[in-house]
Amino acid sequence: MPAVPDRSDDPVHGARADDAAALPSWRIDAGALRAALAGGLAQDWTVDVVDETGSTSADLTQACRTAAWRGARDAVRVRVAYRQTAGRGRQGRPWQGQAGLTFSVAMPLPLAPARLSGLSLAVGLSVAEALEDLDPALGRRVGLKWPNDLQIDGRKLAGILIESVPGSVPGVIWAVIGIGLNLVRDARMEAALGRPLAGVSEGLPGFDAARDPTRILGAVLNRLAAMRMEFLAEGFAPMAPRWSARDAFRDEPVRLLHDGALQAEGLARGVDADGHLLLETATGLQRIASGEVSLRGAAA
Ligand code: ATP
Repeated sequence: MPAVPDRSDDPVHGARADDAAALPSWRIDAGALRAALAGGLAQDWTVDVVDETGSTSADLTQACRTAAWRGARDAVRVRVAYRQTAGRGRQGRPWQGQAGLTFSVAMPLPLAPARLSGLSLAVGLSVAEALEDLDPALGRRVGLKWPNDLQIDGRKLAGILIESVPGSVPGVIWAVIGIGLNLVRDARMEAALGRPLAGVSEGLPGFDAARDPTRILGAVLNRLAAMRMEFLAEGFAPMAPRWSARDAFRDEPVRLLHDGALQAEGLARGVDADGHLLLETATGLQRIASGEVSLRGAAA
């Protein structure tokens, strides 16, 4: 395992580097973000940045339920928090945001619930492609772990949690997309979580903690906006080959666990047009819906 950077030299955390309650040292530059989005599909999106909240996704979910949003393109809302006190992963697992960007995007999708299949994979792919937009070498290092984790060399770089909320307009569903993206590899968090983590800075030469969080956010929002249009038109199907090309476990032996119990094992063979994992087992090819199962390398 590569050496973990010493946090006293950490460009991302605030001055009280050993205090998880501290705000980060960087801020989103509103002007630079507007410039990054100008002329693109996300240019009309509303972006709020707050110092602290429980969960940006919980805030947007609440807003989706109560606001009379009409489902127009300009109704997409983004909420960034420098500190989340109750960030969540799948199945209620906590997300620690102190080493990175935490934000949520609420986007209206005039689609039947059955057509949302593959959306969480499409979001993971968009984040990976955004990192590639910033730096092709970084993009090549980022792998996807089904259904939607991003990782570098097997270490978790980002987590994504999507919730769907019925809109006030019939036929419109709001996808509330929560994204936690580590900017730096954080030794303290690794120790606390008991798992190796990754940070964008390790793959981005000359990482600039003042400027790069805004650039990264802009790149991700632009990719999510493009993904939204593609998804509305054709669903996940055209993205499936791009997802499979970045599959960190492609053709490797994996196990699927539910609550720690083995559900299935076999070789990972990419994903189908609906975002189901294709698992080659002793009894044939199985298509696995994301639901509650967790994928692990067979060696883990
Ligand atoms: P799965 O394969 O089911 O997605 P997971 O353990 O990666 O498994 P998630 O729900 O995606 O689960 O993410 C929550 C988990 O992520 C937490 O249980 C914790 O272990 C880990 N985690 C929390 N904060 C971070 C972070 N900043 N960076 C990387 N991992 C984190």
